[in-house]
Amino acid sequence: MRVGPRRWRFASIGNLWRSSLQVRTVVITVLLTSMAIAVFGAVAALSISQDLFSSRLNQVLSVSNRAIAEAQSSLSASAATDTASIQELMNKVLSDIEGTTTSQKVALLRSEKASFGYTQDITSGGLGLDDLPKSLRAAVRENSTGLWWESVDIGGDPAIIVGAGLTVQVAGLHEVYVVFDLSGEAQTLAYVQQILYVGGIALALLLSAIMLGVVTLVIRPVRAVASTSRMFAGGDLAQRIDVRGEDELAVLATSFNQMAESIQSQIIQLETLSTMQQRFVSDVSHELRTPLTTIRLASDMIFDGREQLDPSYKRAVELLHNQVDRFELLLGDLLEISRFDAGAATLSATKFELKALAKRIVSSFLPLAAERGSELTLRAPRPKCLVTADERRIERIVRNLIANAIEHGDGGQIEVWIGANRSAVSVAVRDHGVGIAAVDQSRVFDRFWRADSSRKRTIGGTGLGLSIAAEDTLLHHGALEVWSKPGEGSCFRLTIPRTPDGQITTSPLGLPPTSPSPQTSSIILPKTWREESGHDK
Ligand code: ADP
Repeated sequence: MRVGPRRWRFASIGNLWRSSLQVRTVVITVLLTSMAIAVFGAVAALSISQDLFSSRLNQVLSVSNRAIAEAQSSLSASAATDTASIQELMNKVLSDIEGTTTSQKVALLRSEKASFGYTQDITSGGLGLDDLPKSLRAAVRENSTGLWWESVDIGGDPAIIVGAGLTVQVAGLHEVYVVFDLSGEAQTLAYVQQILYVGGIALALLLSAIMLGVVTLVIRPVRAVASTSRMFAGGDLAQRIDVRGEDELAVLATSFNQMAESIQSQIIQLETLSTMQQRFVSDVSHELRTPLTTIRLASDMIFDGREQLDPSYKRAVELLHNQVDRFELLLGDLLEISRFDAGAATLSATKFELKALAKRIVSSFLPLAAERGSELTLRAPRPKCLVTADERRIERIVRNLIANAIEHGDGGQIEVWIGANRSAVSVAVRDHGVGIAAVDQSRVFDRFWRADSSRKRTIGGTGLGLSIAAEDTLLHHGALEVWSKPGEGSCFRLTIPRTPDGQITTSPLGLPPTSPSPQTSSIILPKTWREESGHDK
């Protein structure tokens, strides 16, 4: 089927129509002007033809009247009584009529009412009896005193036939018909129509050209406004429109420039404010490090000697120790976030084996998972999953996902999946805990956001874990996605390209992942947790 190119052509015409004000204006003007010119031309041609016809008719009737009156008086004055003399007289009358009317085609016919002899019907110029309309003949016979006419077509030429009755002495009533040719008028009309056609087309073209020129003139500054605002919207805040003249377009350009000025200054203000805030957070975090280190040392010392303390002091020391731990974590996360905000975070990529890293992380979480009653399983394909990435950052992401899964997993099964394809590697952490409401799923990566802020953190997260994980993922040009159903649990899937400058085509794991096919994958269970036969070692 060759539908493609034709559709494309229609689509591009439709596009042009929608996107170009110039094309629309010119096409509509040309159509409306052509219609107006066509209507005007038709009316003009009609009135000219009517005018030509009626003036020719008047002239024809007056000359016919005169010729027939003269013929009647010469017929009335004649004393001819025999057929031959009457026939001769009628021949003479016919040629007299021809002379007066300058018509080449005249017919002098014996009416049915004629009472005498056998006068012959005579015609001139090859006029046949069939050329005479029956209705005209009937009218002449009905009323022989009047003058009758009809417009006809004889041999393809337009004409007017005038008919009247003539009373011939002794021979009775006869009919006379005079044909007046209108081909001269028809030629004049054709000539006028031709002029109207040519003039109309020329006028439409001229108007279109003028319209195109005018629209181009008006549209040029509008285009400049459109392209400048497009560049402005694209982030080039320094873009301004060249203001020329004092017309409406100049007012539009001036208003646009003022608006751009105000937006730019507000954005600069906000940027400065944001930079100041980021620097403040970074400075405060840095400043807090030194006193915190001292507090840490002191609290560690008191904590180590807590057994000698009074039980109430001992409890206070344990609380202090825990909170100093949390404080240290929070400060570390704040410093990390301020490094991302300042654009100072860099990728230090090395080649490593993802399964080995995952094994190490999962093993380190086994005791905690066991403490919470969760079964922690690692599922990975048998082949090696080599990837070039920042191992420290990947480890941080995976640790955060597993810690969250244990924290919110409600003691259910937790699976850590590893997947790899040509373009990417993936780690997915699936739990069967409380889950996250659909409205909250887009907010889990927001800083300090918690689904239930009143819920006590037991593992020690700072509320920045997933935001840092998201930043780490971005640094790898990867994707960190969430799937969750309240009551059924959640799944967080990290996908990164095999190399930092690679492109992900698809993620090797589903969201949530489903069982891998036995040919390509196997299940790894950390030995310390559970042993199953036939698994990868
Ligand atoms: P933190 O865990 O320190 O609160 P995170 O940024 O890691 O901070 O997580 C933000 C919030 O997202 C958590 O407080 C929790 O409400 C929600 N969340 C994260 N992971 C899960 C999960 N696996 N199941 C349910 N909720 C989760």
